[in-house]
Amino acid sequence: MDYPFDAIVVGAGGAGLWAALELAREGVNTAVLTKLYPTRSHTGTAQGGVCAALGNLEEDRWDWHMFDTVKGGDYLVDQDAAEVLAHEAIETVIELEHMGLPFNRTPDGKIDQRRFGGHTRNFGEAPVRRACFAADRTGHMILQTLYQQCIKHGVKFFDEYQVVDLLFEGGEPAEGGRAAGVVAYRVADGQLHTFRAKAVLMATGGFGRMFRITSNAHSLTGDGVALCYRHGIPLEDMEFFQFHPTGIVGIGILLSEAARGEGGTLLNDKGERFMERYAPKLMELAPRDMVSRAMYQEIRAGRGIGGKDYLYLDVRHLGRKVIEEKLPDITDFARIYQGVEPLKEPVPVQPTAHYAMGGIPTNVFSEVVQDERGTVVPGLFAAGECACVSVHGANRLGTNSLVDLLVFGRRAGRQMARYAGTVERPRPIADAAEPVRAQLDAIKSRASKGESVSTIRHELADVMMDNVGVYRDDKLLTAARDKVRELKDRHGAVSIADCGAVFNTDLLEANELGYLLDLAEAMVAGALARTESRGAHSREDFPERNDAKWLKHTLAYRGPKGPTLKYKPVSITRFEPKPRTY
Ligand SMILES: Cc1cc2nc3c(=O)[nH]c(=O)nc-3n(C[C@H](O)[C@H](O)[C@H](O)COP(=O)(O)OP(=O)(O)OC[C@H]3O[C@@H](n4cnc5c(N)ncnc54)[C@H](O)[C@@H]3O)c2cc1C
Repeated sequence: MDYPFDAIVVGAGGAGLWAALELAREGVNTAVLTKLYPTRSHTGTAQGGVCAALGNLEEDRWDWHMFDTVKGGDYLVDQDAAEVLAHEAIETVIELEHMGLPFNRTPDGKIDQRRFGGHTRNFGEAPVRRACFAADRTGHMILQTLYQQCIKHGVKFFDEYQVVDLLFEGGEPAEGGRAAGVVAYRVADGQLHTFRAKAVLMATGGFGRMFRITSNAHSLTGDGVALCYRHGIPLEDMEFFQFHPTGIVGIGILLSEAARGEGGTLLNDKGERFMERYAPKLMELAPRDMVSRAMYQEIRAGRGIGGKDYLYLDVRHLGRKVIEEKLPDITDFARIYQGVEPLKEPVPVQPTAHYAMGGIPTNVFSEVVQDERGTVVPGLFAAGECACVSVHGANRLGTNSLVDLLVFGRRAGRQMARYAGTVERPRPIADAAEPVRAQLDAIKSRASKGESVSTIRHELADVMMDNVGVYRDDKLLTAARDKVRELKDRHGAVSIADCGAVFNTDLLEANELGYLLDLAEAMVAGALARTESRGAHSREDFPERNDAKWLKHTLAYRGPKGPTLKYKPVSITRFEPKPRTY
């Protein structure tokens, strides 16, 4: 089947849905393709909040938010983008409120706000209440609200259509080609469909599934990022991957930072609030990279609980009312998955792989750029976690991802609508689905003749967790590079058990594993080259930040012998880099 549209949005998380809504409001004929049912997108699991300097409880200013974002990202943030983020956060959150999102309220009826790591007043003075929230179900409410608005505005959804290739007209992007559509695999019956459009948005979310312990849903395999990479678009700052301090031990399910925002504390085996030693001013509300490192230090020093590799999150003193009104879901997670009663006992936690700061490079209009000069790929856009604009730099602040989705999803929709008004729809491309059909058929032809997907995936998850985690060094990263190469070779002969057409998740998982391997390779290459410590990238052999050499973004291009790296400057408009203390 060939479907002609004017705009295609790949992904129905917060970023994709807001873009689609904006397109529909502009009267652009839009389709959303999503491999999951829309409201199962990972945005729906976001717990803690979405920040905007509304100042509902105390004075706040958008430029304080901008400063915190830049400092939180260890000065690798593009400041022109951070300014857009902090400024437009305010109007997008208010627009969500007008769409009907049920935020928690202050006694006088305003949107309630709470503290979150690294968000401060007056350029770093003390914590500020900036995160707007709907209990600990903020993402769920955002996703439902936006989905309802999309339905109301007549957006066409293709649920359980997995995009497996991108189409270009006039050559690949590097040859000056423009985006022309996508090829999608219909999960229900295994048919390939082509969707043609003038403008295509990647909003496919993150890729935390390459790690063993992660907060990320099973579906977060970096599809859109890998597809861009395979079409010659470089990936930006892939070496920066965030570990969130408070995952459920052993399984990584998240217990939101909102617990600390409401006053929860972190304790070691001796019952000490160990953050005193690492961030005396902000304590548990220091940024995530710092808290995760502090936890590893405590564990290495033998002060993990019972000498083991976890610590305690303590919310007992918050009392039943706060817990029930503001943290109901995450306290239930502790009961269900750990058998712990947070009202009476501290909860065992350990860092969990959480968020990709890097991804598809874009400018502030959410247009994909393909080189260090900022050359735009006509018709191709990216927003949300898969994109790198870069507002998070080397480390994202909590609640800044949901804002990123709203602000840059909305900008993507607006820019796509403008662009679609200026160009003709691409012509049908003969045999557009053939290259990807050949790839998928090759996997099917090896039914039960080679290694299983799960063996390779587990080995990948282990090496990424153990060698490319919170702390890294040359030895660990070199071993990871060799291991990922070996796994890529083995993946070339991977085999599956199911060769049917109906709901063949075996086949799709084999394909997704290929994406994860490509992205892991880019991540390791960037990390190995970057001989400094900045934000979430912490090299024990190079413990200092080195602005003279490394205040620049990495661009990893895919090549036959592995990634080639180039660099581009960071946009610095207001805040000169300073030492980062909290
Ligand atoms: C447990 C958890 C809690 C979080 N809490 C917060 C928080 O409180 N505040 C905050 O700011 N951030 C939070 N984050 C981060 C934030 O939620 C995510 O970064 C954000 O929701 C990502 O949104 P997205 O729109 O980019 O993609 P997602 O919401 O991940 O959606 C991706 C979409 O892409 C689709 N897709 C993927 N691949 C394909 C393909 N090949 N073909 C078709 N469709 C495809 C999927 O079906 C899905 O619809 C949290 C993250 C997690 C994991």
